[in-house]
Amino acid sequence: MKRLFELDEWKVQTHMLEKKDRRLQESLMSIGNGYMGMRGNFEETYSGDHHQGSYLAGVWYPDKTRVGWWKNGYPEYFGKVINSMNFIKLDIYIDGERVDLYEDSISEFELSLDMQKGILSRSYIAEKLGSRIHVEVERFVSLAQKELCAIRMKVTSLTGEVTIGFAPALDGNVVNEDSNYEEKFWLPISITENSLTVETKPNDFEIEQFTVAAKMLNRVENVEYVRSSTTDMSVVQEYSGKLKANESATIEKLITLTTSRDSLKEEVTKKSMQISESVAAFSFEQLRQQQVSLWQERWDKADVIIGGDRAAQQGIRYNLFQLFSTYYGEDDRLNIGPKGFTGEKYGGATYWDTEAYAIPLYLALTDQKVSKNLLNYRHNQLPQAEHNARQQGLKGALYPMVTFTGVECHNEWEITFEEIHRNGAMAYAIYNYTNYTGDESYLMDKGLDVLVGISRFWADRVHYNQDKDQYMMHGVTGPNEYENNVNNNWYTNKIAIWTLNYTLASLEKAENKKRTLNIRKEESKKWQAIIDKMYFPYDEKREIFVQHDTFLDKELRPVSELDPAELPLSQNWSWDKILRSPYIKQADVLQGIYFFKEEFTAAEKQRNFDFYEPLTVHESSLSPSIHAILAADLQKVAKAVELYSQTARLDLDNYNNDTEDGLHITSMTGSWLTIVEGFAGMRTAGGKLSFAPLLPDNWTNYEFHINYRERLLKMTIDNTINGLTVTLVKGSPIELTLYEEQILLKDEYNGSLKK
Ligand code: BGC
Repeated sequence: MKRLFELDEWKVQTHMLEKKDRRLQESLMSIGNGYMGMRGNFEETYSGDHHQGSYLAGVWYPDKTRVGWWKNGYPEYFGKVINSMNFIKLDIYIDGERVDLYEDSISEFELSLDMQKGILSRSYIAEKLGSRIHVEVERFVSLAQKELCAIRMKVTSLTGEVTIGFAPALDGNVVNEDSNYEEKFWLPISITENSLTVETKPNDFEIEQFTVAAKMLNRVENVEYVRSSTTDMSVVQEYSGKLKANESATIEKLITLTTSRDSLKEEVTKKSMQISESVAAFSFEQLRQQQVSLWQERWDKADVIIGGDRAAQQGIRYNLFQLFSTYYGEDDRLNIGPKGFTGEKYGGATYWDTEAYAIPLYLALTDQKVSKNLLNYRHNQLPQAEHNARQQGLKGALYPMVTFTGVECHNEWEITFEEIHRNGAMAYAIYNYTNYTGDESYLMDKGLDVLVGISRFWADRVHYNQDKDQYMMHGVTGPNEYENNVNNNWYTNKIAIWTLNYTLASLEKAENKKRTLNIRKEESKKWQAIIDKMYFPYDEKREIFVQHDTFLDKELRPVSELDPAELPLSQNWSWDKILRSPYIKQADVLQGIYFFKEEFTAAEKQRNFDFYEPLTVHESSLSPSIHAILAADLQKVAKAVELYSQTARLDLDNYNNDTEDGLHITSMTGSWLTIVEGFAGMRTAGGKLSFAPLLPDNWTNYEFHINYRERLLKMTIDNTINGLTVTLVKGSPIELTLYEEQILLKDEYNGSLKK
């Protein structure tokens, strides 16, 4: 396999300027700090094909829906993360001619993302008009001061005397590649010689307009300020200086960005100035040092060490780095977008991915309040979820597939109207949080509001089949989006009655909520009847749960019989062919078995896995991890390892051939889940912590930490005789189960791995 980047434990690094694949390289070199982030674009001009993208969390635009055929119930707009101004722009001039990394002769190119430090760096030699210069650039978005993006550029003359120019700029002439009507979303507000304030265009949907201000502070050595010039949407400053051979000039560009999310509109510009002034007190080196130590603090709590497999090691660190760059829980108005700050394709900020895939990781790797913030986010959006249900003529609350505000933004009928299993993930996350932390206060206070809303939706969405005396759910799309409008998707029916059950059981402990939420006897009786009489397609012959009513009528040829050239199907087959095929995009029945693993016997898990996995193309990045965890549970270690490397290096190796659009942020949790829930076999059901670790053949050891009920535990697994160590790093003694043995962990436990 051709690797896009060199294997290294802490760095993602290359010596190739990939002109053919520049977008891919840009996606992979993305950085962020939860508040803002950007693709790995160059500061200098690059006139070849690329995608310039910088994004500010929570700053979005409602782009009027564009569809071929309007259907009642469609949302009016699609919420887009907006490509904000280009604030990293910093051109270099050699004797008055602008350097262009696409056109000019570039050698000794090096590009490196240091994940340990959170710093992107680059160097190269450019040759132009007979002069050669060495360029070194560093960039980071600060964890210490979230509004700050810091860039340092150093140019050294390698030949004789040369005039070097720097042109730091702020440029608001930016468009979203996915704009529905090719509109620009930004309007100018004010401009000075070093600042630019813009606001989003007015919209027809009563969505607030955002104001964004950027201020640049440029500190230079060996060049002089020449002038600045402005247009209504951009400002550029010019610096120039003469260098002899081996002399260098440096510029530090410190950009502070503020938005009306945090200040009154009229104060946004002032705020960016104030922050700029306070940042000016620090040297670049000091700012850099803060960055390094804050990233180190994160790694101390979350790092995963893998020995013997550098690709696996790089993969897990890359994923944790990108996840934390997207979201670290500081702001409860934000969520985890599937592309984070790395692209525009998916729009929206929030998918069911957060509840189904991200919460378990954030529960174990960050403070408890981070996951609680994510739950609060949904509670705050309950009125909008009720609106979504009403749009479809239904009772209760329907959480959106894609959203910024809680109002559904997705406008494909098979997803908006049908992919309703998402609602169940909201309920499951409440259970997950409560079970993992042992803290019932969220459930009792706010969680029940959400659960009751979702339960009311399910109770209205099912129908009663008189002939069979059973409840059913027709016209749905399961997690497998490669089939639509199916009847009785096993997973959707399962998560629906699970929600009803959990809601009823939780209400039993909350008489006050029964009253305030107006739960009458008839209503709970109806929910109970649905639980008792829900229909589940089952195949007696194969003894498996059937994905939906007619799934087994298909021609069931495994993926292995397809010509590999046809994969990925989404890029090679017509949609019609995909819909009629038996090929499964991502875990569907197996998603349910994963969520509710304690309910099934090993034989049931095995039969369903053996039937469905061979039909699965894993064309959603969310897919391999769930299968890897189940494979590990079934002791199919080789399969688990194969799927691990797909999930851990999905973007680094561009498995699905779509990383150029941006990274698959939410599915990056999958590699961590595979290590911890898969290889180490962590289970937490019923508030009991247990592990059943195994060591993949090609790994010599691995190690990770988890936060669990006010304790910090470290698990170390290696291939020696006493290969299993659990350390209580912080907190009071705790009971846990290792394989079948119950232990009281006081400080450290040493045991051996079970083969
Ligand atoms: C998957 C969905 C997921 C979405 C965003 C789609 O390809 O099928 O399950 O929510 O991507 O990650």
